[in-house]
Amino acid sequence: MLLGEIKHSITKLKGIGPHTAGQLATLDIMSVADLLLHVPRDYEDRSRIVPLKEGYQDATVNTLVEVVAHDFFGPEHKKTLKVYVKDETATGVLVCFNRNFLQHVLKVGHQFYLYGQFSYRYGDLQSSSFEAEPYPSEHTKFGSILPVYPLSGKLNQSVLRKAVQDALTTYGKYIDNELPESLRSHYRYLEKRRALAQLHFPDSHDSAAQARQSLAYEELLYFQLVVARHSLARKDSRRSPKILPEKLQRSCLKNLPFSLTTDQRSVLTEIKQDLDSAHPMGRLLQGDVGSGKTLVAFLAALPVIEAGYQAAFLAPTELLARQHAERAAELLEPLGVRVAFLSGNVDKNARRPLLDALRTGEVDLLIGTHALFTREVVFQSLRLVIIDEQHKFGVEQRSQLMEKGHAPDLLLMTATPIPRTLTLTFFGDLDVSSIRTMPPGRKEIVTHLARQSNADKVYNAVRHELERGHQAYFVYPLIRGTEKSSLKAAEGAAEQLSSTIFPNYKVALIHSKIREEEKLERMHAFSEGTIDILVSTSVVEVGVDIKNATCMVIEHAERFGLAGLHQLRGRVGRSTLQSYAFLVYSEELTEEGKQRLLVMKESSDGFFIAEEDLKIRGPGEVTGTRQSGFMRLKFADLSGDLTLLDKARKDAFRIIKADPGLLQPDHQQLRRTLECCPPFPEDTLTGG
Ligand code: ADP
Ligand code: MG
Repeated sequence: MLLGEIKHSITKLKGIGPHTAGQLATLDIMSVADLLLHVPRDYEDRSRIVPLKEGYQDATVNTLVEVVAHDFFGPEHKKTLKVYVKDETATGVLVCFNRNFLQHVLKVGHQFYLYGQFSYRYGDLQSSSFEAEPYPSEHTKFGSILPVYPLSGKLNQSVLRKAVQDALTTYGKYIDNELPESLRSHYRYLEKRRALAQLHFPDSHDSAAQARQSLAYEELLYFQLVVARHSLARKDSRRSPKILPEKLQRSCLKNLPFSLTTDQRSVLTEIKQDLDSAHPMGRLLQGDVGSGKTLVAFLAALPVIEAGYQAAFLAPTELLARQHAERAAELLEPLGVRVAFLSGNVDKNARRPLLDALRTGEVDLLIGTHALFTREVVFQSLRLVIIDEQHKFGVEQRSQLMEKGHAPDLLLMTATPIPRTLTLTFFGDLDVSSIRTMPPGRKEIVTHLARQSNADKVYNAVRHELERGHQAYFVYPLIRGTEKSSLKAAEGAAEQLSSTIFPNYKVALIHSKIREEEKLERMHAFSEGTIDILVSTSVVEVGVDIKNATCMVIEHAERFGLAGLHQLRGRVGRSTLQSYAFLVYSEELTEEGKQRLLVMKESSDGFFIAEEDLKIRGPGEVTGTRQSGFMRLKFADLSGDLTLLDKARKDAFRIIKADPGLLQPDHQQLRRTLECCPPFPEDTLTGG
């Protein structure tokens, strides 16, 4: 069975009840496959024996000890247990804060494996952060390298370790290889099941690295196979070149109250040339938030529509899709273009006629969300697919939509510019267009960094803007705070802003847990100006366009990635009004967090910020670019694995070229077909 097919719920595993399952769900772990794909962020090395005497200055020891004596200190009603232990090299003290029960576990005269952080205190070698387990033990962690997983909430490492171990024991043996055997043996990569086992519980650090390489290569190969498939399919598919009409486009341009920027104009020309050519277009349009990409996309669709074809416009959120649909209606319906909107929330009664109209060609431009992928969505003649914020979609989702047309033209858009090296490799099948200049009259957004303790100054500055009739966004990393953390969260902040800080202004809250209609209503009120302050989580990140909003306050700004911060800041400065961004940060700032904020202060150029982002994360970072937003890769690290990527890319193109039959099947099928395809002769593997 393929790993991705192990859809069994994690509750099938020993010791995982609904409660733990709920906690794991916050990490997006629902199935056994999800669990096995939860990649350790680090390892804890308990394989090397480190004797007690080496335990000073917070060094971690890992040794076998004997308990020598017990003692207590502190006032009678809250006394704390001290356990004296020794190994062959030294004597140490375990300070058991809130763990007095350990007196019944760590019994005098018994032996234990001990793993803990030690320092010299009061003349003793002390530890209050340690784990001990009885010796001898069947399930000892002693002598092994343990995974350290990304966690959330109340989850701890040992729950995850147990679950993963159990998943490996129960399901591991059924997991099939997904790399063609010829490639696997050529590169000496591990069998899939072994790679997974070694990824989680490696025999050595080398073996963990080898496991990651094997999995990263496989991941990149499949990614590149899809890229190669698109690329070759496009070059393969010919149509008779035809100059599409431009009358509609010209009328639309004439109706605009402004003229296009030079960059917009040249991109539009590039797109038109693609549309007229003998091969379908595959183009990536990069440009900062607010640079006018969406407008270009609408304009680009007009020749296609005028020629009698249909276009689809896909956006990552309902909010954004609706906003696009409204703008398209405003701009295009006066020209006779029939625009429709589809999302999961469009109810049955409205959906039926819409889908019928789409099938019979009575809709020219369909704008919507993920709902566009569904099987029931059938076009009469889909000729152009536009995907906004393309990094929010998987390659497979993209192809699902493409398959609804006959080799349609594809325009991908991104406001998260992608560093050049990565564009070349990841979007090697695409042509790239960039809009580098903003529409005229925009003022540079003034960015201030402020400590949390200076938040009042920020509020005063915002008040000044509100007094002038402008509006403000307040963004928080979380919806709801927890008792333990001092993090401010959107819900609490909305309350505080409206009751004490800005009592004279109207405050509304939106986040992902709020019903879609409610969210839209509040957004609408904000765009109408009946709400002054919009408090949210990063849901306003993409695309929301409200010209009168001049303040963007991001609290706990250190918690956001550079790409996210840049996107958020781009919500303001969307008109000729002077706008401001206030990045409010906590006192405890990591070096990396500080660097990110400084980059934000220094520059508002998305292209520059993207390059800096890659630099700050640096090559080889374990979590790497996984979080950076533009690619969802589990194992591969874009800043570190470029060589691997190159390799995978070459192999993928060769595989597809050697067997054009592979151009057709879907992803799962592709994997199966590759499994049984005959081995490649050795020389085709090493040749360019
Ligand atoms: P993007 O999709 O790149 O974020 P949009 O196409 O949504 O940008 O444009 C942002 C705003 O700027 C919109 O209100 C749009 O009407 C306006 N705009 C686009 N192009 C121009 C231009 N050349 N001159 C003036 N305003 C423009
Ligand atoms: Mg946009």
